[in-house]
Amino acid sequence: MKALAVDLGGTHVAYGIVDDRTLLFHATFDSAEAKDLRSVLDTLEKEFRRSQERFGACVGVAMGLPCIVDTSTNRVLSALQKYEDALQIDLSDWCRSRLGLELRIENDARMALLGERYAGAGRGEDNLVMMTLGTGIGTAALLHGRLLRGTHFHAACLGGHLTVNFDGPLCRCGNVGCAESYASGWALPNIAATWHGFECSSLAAVPSIGFFDLFAHAKAGDAVAVQIRDHCLKIWSATAVSLIHAYDPTALILGGGVMGSAEEIVPVIQDYVDRHVWSSWGKPQVRAAELGNSAALLGAIPLLKEENCAPIELR
Ligand SMILES: [Zn+2]
Repeated sequence: MKALAVDLGGTHVAYGIVDDRTLLFHATFDSAEAKDLRSVLDTLEKEFRRSQERFGACVGVAMGLPCIVDTSTNRVLSALQKYEDALQIDLSDWCRSRLGLELRIENDARMALLGERYAGAGRGEDNLVMMTLGTGIGTAALLHGRLLRGTHFHAACLGGHLTVNFDGPLCRCGNVGCAESYASGWALPNIAATWHGFECSSLAAVPSIGFFDLFAHAKAGDAVAVQIRDHCLKIWSATAVSLIHAYDPTALILGGGVMGSAEEIVPVIQDYVDRHVWSSWGKPQVRAAELGNSAALLGAIPLLKEENCAPIELR
């Protein structure tokens, strides 16, 4: 069963063709400057037409968005400074009229969890939480084998906006002291620039600091980079404990580009979880995602096959 898959991330759009658990083809293009979803859809249409010619018939399209989405109607309900025009676009209609295929959409972090459960670090398990560390902090929970979505589709996907300091700064979501404000890709340049001693750090020469730079400079021994890295690890650890307390998983999967440094992240968060989670049965295992940036794309087939979403007819 083949499907077109797309993951509209904060800075990149990844797309490809999946055949069950295999990614037949995938590619990305930059979307850092794209606030407008329509322009991204135009690019995707051209790319998908070309891909379909190469790989033959597909059953449908699965699309992950960094937004709150209604999976029963395929509408975007809320977007935060990214793709705000998505609320006005009938994505099902776009997909049917431009590609001749049915569409299902989902929050990108939930789609990544579906992918890791189908083909990656969560295979065979029914109770999972995933935290994707990227431009923001995406979270999702799977309970008894089903994605937790909630009455308004907000459930479990706003874990990056769990409060870690009630006296903290105003987050772009409207809450104060969110985990994302303290340890996310969008917050990192400002966190670094205002860190005590930053001007003497090797990071001061980096034009736009990302987690790759942070972990590389920390590894090279820069004292400020070590402090900021450890600060981020604490925020992610505290958020992991809150997610585990909220959703009672057997494992917590960590994803995102920063997991290139998994060996420096997983043991630290596992140790914190072991010390701080209240549990009657043991401690959930902390694991690195296995599918890297392809996790959401590999969530396409389970999303398209899922019942109780928007009714579609797969070809
Ligand atoms: Zn927030």
